[in-house]
Amino acid sequence: MAIETVNPYNNEKVKSFEEISEKELDNKIETAHQAFQKWKKTSVEKRCQLLEKVASIMKNRKTELAKLITLEMGKLIEQSEAEIDMCISVYEYYAKNAASFLEDKKIKIEDGEAFVRLTPIGSILAVMPWNYPFNQVARIAAPNIAAGNVILVKHASNVPQCAAIIEEIFTEAGAETGIYTNLFIASKRVAKIAEDKRIAAMSLTGSEGAGASLAEAAGKNLKKSVLELGGSDPFIVLEDADLDKAVENAVKGRFGNMGQACTSSKRIILLEEIADNFIEKFKKELQDLKVGNPMDKDTEVGPLSTEEAAKKIAKQVKETVDAGAKVLLGGKRMDREGAFFEPTILTDIKPGMVAYHEEIFGPVASIFRVKDEEAAIELANDSSFGLGGSVFSKDLKRAVAVADKIETGMVFINEHTASRPDLPFGGVKRSGYGRELSALGFEEFLNKKLIRIAE
Ligand code: NAP
Repeated sequence: MAIETVNPYNNEKVKSFEEISEKELDNKIETAHQAFQKWKKTSVEKRCQLLEKVASIMKNRKTELAKLITLEMGKLIEQSEAEIDMCISVYEYYAKNAASFLEDKKIKIEDGEAFVRLTPIGSILAVMPWNYPFNQVARIAAPNIAAGNVILVKHASNVPQCAAIIEEIFTEAGAETGIYTNLFIASKRVAKIAEDKRIAAMSLTGSEGAGASLAEAAGKNLKKSVLELGGSDPFIVLEDADLDKAVENAVKGRFGNMGQACTSSKRIILLEEIADNFIEKFKKELQDLKVGNPMDKDTEVGPLSTEEAAKKIAKQVKETVDAGAKVLLGGKRMDREGAFFEPTILTDIKPGMVAYHEEIFGPVASIFRVKDEEAAIELANDSSFGLGGSVFSKDLKRAVAVADKIETGMVFINEHTASRPDLPFGGVKRSGYGRELSALGFEEFLNKKLIRIAE
C-alpha cells in the first residue's frame, strides 16, 4: 500500500511519502534505544512537562490539525476538532496522574516488607489505525512516555501527514530525538521489527487480521503485545428506557465518525414493545441530512475514509440484503464523486448473514427485535467480538444486571460506548486483549517489579 494522502471527498491524490530504507529503520530503532537509556532516568516531573507542552502545542494548532484529519480520512470538521480536544485531554490526564500511578504499591505481608515498583521496559512499537489518527496515538504515547518508555509509531498508510505532524509536535515540545519516532513503513515490515532485540513490546489497534499477524510475531519473539481490535457492539434498549435519550445516543453512537469507530453501536437490539416507536424516531433523525464537504461546518454526512472502505461497505450491505435482510433507509453508494455511502438502516437480519457476524465499519445500523431481556442478552453475546456495549433502562439495578451478563470489555448504561482518559478501554474475545487509558492502560508496558525486604 502506498503511503499517501488521498482526499476521500473527491478521491484526489494530494501528497505521497517515501518509505524509509532498512538502514534508516535500523538507525531510528537505535536512536530510540539510546534515547530510552536516558529517558528512563529522567524524573517523572520532567517527562510530564513534555506531555503538557505537547498538549499546549496541540491547543494552539488545533484548527490546522483538525483540517489534516478531515483532509486525510474525511471526518466531519467539528468531529475532527473534538478529536483533537480528546487527544489533548489524554496527554493532560497522564501529565497530571503519572506521578501517582508510579507510586510504589505496598503488599501486606506478615514478615518483613514488600512492594511493587513500576519500571519502564524500553522501546514500544505501536501500529495505529486511521480512524482517530491523533487520539489513538495519544492513548499509547502519553502513558508510556510519562512512564519512561519510548515510542515508535507505524501509522496507517492513509494518514501520513497526521503521522508526521505528531512527531513534529513532540520535537517542537522539546523531546529528544528517539522519544517519539514516526516510521514510514509498509505493514509487511512490522513482523520483522518484532525480532529486533531493541524493541521491548508492541501494540496494535486495527483489524483482526493485522492483530493476529502482530501477535504471532510478538509471540514468536516472546514479547508482550496489546491488541485493540474490531467490535460489533450491542446497543440494547429495554422497554422501560427513556426512548428519546436512547435514540439520540444510537444516532451518535452509530453514525459518529461515519460509523468508523471500533465501539460504534453496530447492533441495535430493541425489545418488541418499543421497537416500532424507536425505529420511527431513529429513521426520522437520519433522513434529509446534509451531504457535502466534510471541511464545511454545516455538512452532516461526509465520505468514508477511502474509496476501498466505501466499496467494502457496499459489498457487505449487498450481500446481507441479497440474503434476505430489509433496507429501511439508504443501502447504497451515493451518486457522486468521493467515498460516500448513504446512512443506512438494515432490519430482518438473521444468523448466517454478513451483517449478523461481520463488523460493518461504516454508517450502517443493524436493527434487531427481541421478545425479552433474556433474548437481548443472548443475541448480544452471539458475536465473535467483545469490545463494548450499551444498555438503556430507567431501572439502573436491572441495567447493571444485564450489563453483568454481556460478554464485552466495557458496558455503558444509558450512554453509547465512549472513550475517556480516566476509564479503561479494551475488549475480550476477538476484540483483542489488554487495556488502554486510565491506570490500567498505564501499566500495560511496565515491569511490575517486586521488591522484597526480609525481616
Ligand atoms: P487495519 O487494516 O488493521 O490497519 C490498522 C493498522 O495496522 C495500520 O497501521 C495498518 O497499516 C496496519 N496493518 C495492517 N495489516 C497489518 C499486518 N499484517 N501487520 C502489521 N500491521 C498491519 O485496520 P483498518 O481497517 O484500517 O482499521 C479499522 C479497524 O480497526 C476496525 O476493525 C476497527 O474496529 C479497529 N479499531 C479498533 C480500535 C480499538 O481500540 N479496539 C480503535 C480503532 C479501530 P497499513 O495502513 O499500512 O495497512
